[in-house]
Amino acid sequence: MTALLDLAGKKGLVLGIANEHSIAYGCARVFHQAGAELAVTYANDKAEPYVRPLAEQLNAPIIMPCDVRDDTQMTALFKVIQKEWGTLDFLLHAIAFAPKADLQGRVTDCSKEGFLEAMDISCHSFIRLAKLAEPLMKNGGSLLTLTYIGSAEVVKHYGLMGPVKAALESSVRYLAAELGAKNIRVNAISPGAIKTRAGSGIADFDGLLKSTAVKMPLRRMIDLDDIGNMAAFLVSDLSKNITGGVHMVDGGYEIID
Ligand code: NAD
Repeated sequence: MTALLDLAGKKGLVLGIANEHSIAYGCARVFHQAGAELAVTYANDKAEPYVRPLAEQLNAPIIMPCDVRDDTQMTALFKVIQKEWGTLDFLLHAIAFAPKADLQGRVTDCSKEGFLEAMDISCHSFIRLAKLAEPLMKNGGSLLTLTYIGSAEVVKHYGLMGPVKAALESSVRYLAAELGAKNIRVNAISPGAIKTRAGSGIADFDGLLKSTAVKMPLRRMIDLDDIGNMAAFLVSDLSKNITGGVHMVDGGYEIID
């Protein structure tokens, strides 16, 4: 952590922590180390016992449920943020879901319901969050989401999540264009494969990790801190003129055919 990267005084909302391996937790840890104050959500009652202790370690003053399919929970979350903080400086959306049968089959065969559910939770939820965050980002802000190279290339077993992440990346560009006049920046981070619970939903994820390690120019796997450092940069004032981008944190994987 360089002394330049200072998030003191900034207030950020982090959605997507499931456990200590979650990318959202890796990011939250760096945000906290850099001095940010955090609101942390958990997806449901089952997740709460895993997420709450991590949120408490981060001294998060706001810890709330937020299943992004539930508009009532989302509205309640932003009401509390409005009441407690009055403003919001950044938001991290590190959420993805697709029903297993649809995720592990061919895109050709995926059901309409599975496709729509994956799009709703993994993509449109980011748009809904942006809309709720906009009025709180009175002095500008930074919205961040997580994507994967499977949006642009056909990655074996990534299936349905490829088109979903492509839509998410396009949404980042449109949101960035629309919210730029309010000094609200919108970016996506595209990390190389990393072992998490969501990753393990992808068939032969260990195979993907192995092939990733061989293909990367840097010949080493990325870790949570690598993603957290990029996320902290993108929510900091150091990146004040960076918006609408998909930022690779992949050891150079993208450049190799
Ligand atoms: P993870 O399982 O730790 O996190 C996924 C999170 O999504 C969980 O916290 C889960 O509770 C949450 N979620 C799912 N459905 C939800 C809902 N309806 N409401 C609220 N939350 C819900 O896995 P992760 O790998 O840290 O995933 C975070 C993001 O990173 C995802 O967008 C994923 O696609 C992306 N990503 C992961 C990798 C990887 O290799 N792991 C690579 C590139 C991008």
